[in-house]
Amino acid sequence: MKVCKFGGTSVASAEQIKKVAKIIQSDASRRIVVVSAPGKRTSDDIKVTDLLIDLANTVIAKQPYEEKIREVVARYENNAIGLGLGQEISEIITLDLQKRCNEAAYLSDETIMDYLKASGEDNNAKMIAAYFNSIGIPTRYVSPKEGLLVNNAPERTMAIEQAYENLSVLKDSEEIILFPGFFGYTVDGQLRTFDRGGSDITGAILAAAVDAELYENFTDVDCVFSANPKVVNNPAEITEITYREMRELSYAGFSVFHDEALMPVVKKGIPVNIKNTNNPSVAGTRIVPKRVESKRPVTGISADSGFSILYVSKYLMNREIGFGRKLLQILEEENISYEHTPSGLDDISVIIRSYQLDKAKEQRILSRVKEELHADDINFRHGFSMIVVVGEGMKFKTGLAASATTAISRTGANIEMINQGSSEVSLSFGVLQQYEDEILKELYNEFFTAVSV
Ligand code: ASP
Repeated sequence: MKVCKFGGTSVASAEQIKKVAKIIQSDASRRIVVVSAPGKRTSDDIKVTDLLIDLANTVIAKQPYEEKIREVVARYENNAIGLGLGQEISEIITLDLQKRCNEAAYLSDETIMDYLKASGEDNNAKMIAAYFNSIGIPTRYVSPKEGLLVNNAPERTMAIEQAYENLSVLKDSEEIILFPGFFGYTVDGQLRTFDRGGSDITGAILAAAVDAELYENFTDVDCVFSANPKVVNNPAEITEITYREMRELSYAGFSVFHDEALMPVVKKGIPVNIKNTNNPSVAGTRIVPKRVESKRPVTGISADSGFSILYVSKYLMNREIGFGRKLLQILEEENISYEHTPSGLDDISVIIRSYQLDKAKEQRILSRVKEELHADDINFRHGFSMIVVVGEGMKFKTGLAASATTAISRTGANIEMINQGSSEVSLSFGVLQQYEDEILKELYNEFFTAVSV
């Protein structure tokens, strides 16, 4: 059996939802359907989840919110009309949202946010289940209450082990299962949402729970591209990519599939197929445990901006036991995670996502590293991009790093940091942000267009 997840644009309008029904009808093994909240219908549209976040903030601020409820309901109402469903759908959704807002008086701000955000997928799943039944596809809406157990972290929850066993019973259903994405419940019944884009995670959990043969992730592009198509003209399409490569490419341009959604399917070795709802006959991209070797050593190149570098130097650092641990501990106590830590004998750089920093935090870190670690030199620098070249075949190709650095040098950019993991699946470069696009284009030319590779 297959688990299919449909993203926001795939369920944004009646026309799109009709395509979803056709896709389900065309393959009897498509048994479990996970849906997002209605997404954007055009590029300047607003996602229902964003309308709901606005509604939640209004409720939290104790401001009048009726108009905002109407705005959300209007989105479903349009779709219900287009699908030939009755007027009662808008009444049910209005009552549901009013109930959620009224209950806010007894809930924490974080819970109000999760509770309202989750209504986007929940109401959409109920409505789409009603539509499927109305056109003769026997369908059952299943609430995450029936077993999708998660931990207590608001807005970024994660499933707990028990969820998989609870949900495994869904594989025996005679009817198509329609399951809302994006949220689950804690053991004591509290609703919690995943990270943004988290319906991918719900689909992956269900695929793992029922031991699906395939997890189909329907979106609005034909495939994953080997570089960000907003920067590189006509990048090559990726037909097959390993879990490991996909994970390493998780920077900008590769956001078609949520990072955290890989974990449940990797554990079970279930392949993922990224497909286009608007063009379902195209094979799409398969994310697999292992793939046949291709001629090209590089599978993809990704890039992201918004990084800072914490630079620390101290004479004889390499002899000092525990220096690295103490440094990272200071960052841990400031609640900061890091991406890379390239080092020399007497210095170490820590690459951090800049959004985790502010002036006060930086000041505290600088003075603690000076006082507690007696560093000779320490500073923060901002405005960096990370560029990552990824491919399972890279370790078999000598001179690959030389080709990459030569390509970068053609842009005139200085390489501030290089990092190659021992798996040799990826090679990352830290550069000044302003060179990012130009470097991406040069690297793409080097590894995908030039004849030499
Ligand atoms: N609707 C949620 C979001 O916009 C989750 C999802 O679509 O996957 O983030």
